[in-house]
Amino acid sequence: MDAQSKILVIDDEEIVLDSCTQILAGGNFDIRTAENGILGVTLIEEFRPDLVFVDLKMPGISGFEVLEKIQEIDPTIVMIVITGYATIGSAVEAMQKGAFDFLPKPFTPDELRLITRRGLEKRKLVIETLALRREKELLREQFAAIVSHELKSPLAAVQQYLYGLSGELSSQLTEDQLRRFERIQTRIDDLMQLIHTWLRAITVDIDSIKENFKPIDISSVISKAVESVQPNAIRKDIPINTTIQDEIYPVEGDEGTLVEAIVNIVGNAIKYSPTGSRVEITAENKESQILIIIKDNGIGISKEDLPFVFEDFYTSTTDRNTERGSGVGLALTKRILEAHDGSVSVESELGKGSTFTLCLPAIKDNPVEMTTMS
Ligand code: ADP
Repeated sequence: MDAQSKILVIDDEEIVLDSCTQILAGGNFDIRTAENGILGVTLIEEFRPDLVFVDLKMPGISGFEVLEKIQEIDPTIVMIVITGYATIGSAVEAMQKGAFDFLPKPFTPDELRLITRRGLEKRKLVIETLALRREKELLREQFAAIVSHELKSPLAAVQQYLYGLSGELSSQLTEDQLRRFERIQTRIDDLMQLIHTWLRAITVDIDSIKENFKPIDISSVISKAVESVQPNAIRKDIPINTTIQDEIYPVEGDEGTLVEAIVNIVGNAIKYSPTGSRVEITAENKESQILIIIKDNGIGISKEDLPFVFEDFYTSTTDRNTERGSGVGLALTKRILEAHDGSVSVESELGKGSTFTLCLPAIKDNPVEMTTMS
């Protein structure tokens, strides 16, 4: 049998508390009630309900304050507001503040049962999503530990022995043997580099990125990113044209990781484009966001690959004469953007090119206090 779902009803009208208890009594629920917000919040701490009904209009602490407190205690608790007809507007406001739904008074038993079932289904989904996320994080941590201990450490030791050995033997080796030694060293250096890239991508701590957030000038971020990929662009004779709208809004963020995100995308644009093509970067304000659009005329991404390019370790399956990468750049970029409450998306056509769009929430109120450009 499924565990009982815990339901709490917070309302100052006794009749509402009684009728909710009676209507839901037949179901597999553990129901508690509280006649004001303070008692309700205390019960939330002790009882840890799955679902809470909150009356918006109560004497003492208001329904809105109760909603805020619930979210502070446990943001996974599903909240439904109970409201009189006169306060439908505030019910909508409550939903904007995190309530899942609202139940207008007076309600029928069927309406209460239906909304309860939907609320509990939502709760189940939230818990499952959290469990999946945790599982993914755990796998990520385990993978990082394996890569670090089982691969990186022994390889670093091999690298060290090899350096020592080639130094000791250098005077005794023939030209050909020296060249072969060098080749082994280069391969091992490449492997170490790959392991560093993996570790960087899977261990980047999104929460600690958030601790360093401050107002950032996005044109400075773009110019630093372009500077970093410029040597590759010059090597392939690919000009990078940048157009930034006047008075572009600043964003709240971490400059280092935003530069890294743009380096990944512009770097790919160069890597997956033929010599002599070009890359366009534009940045513009759009409502309360800024968009950074990076467009190339390169090899493009097939329809089959397109849904997966932001996944960890995904590299295109198409056999192309292009250098292959580690498949972590876009996954890392996506995580960086999400840490900034932003997003990254792509449109692409095989043989024609790709357009990546980065979307970041803008700071519209206080554009003066920005990090200085360098
Ligand atoms: P990689 O190190 O393989 O480049 P990414 O995570 O940066 O890893 O990219 C994942 C895959 O997406 C790449 O292997 C490539 O197939 C595809 N891709 C990314 N950017 C582009 C682009 N601008 N043009 C064509 N393909 C791209």
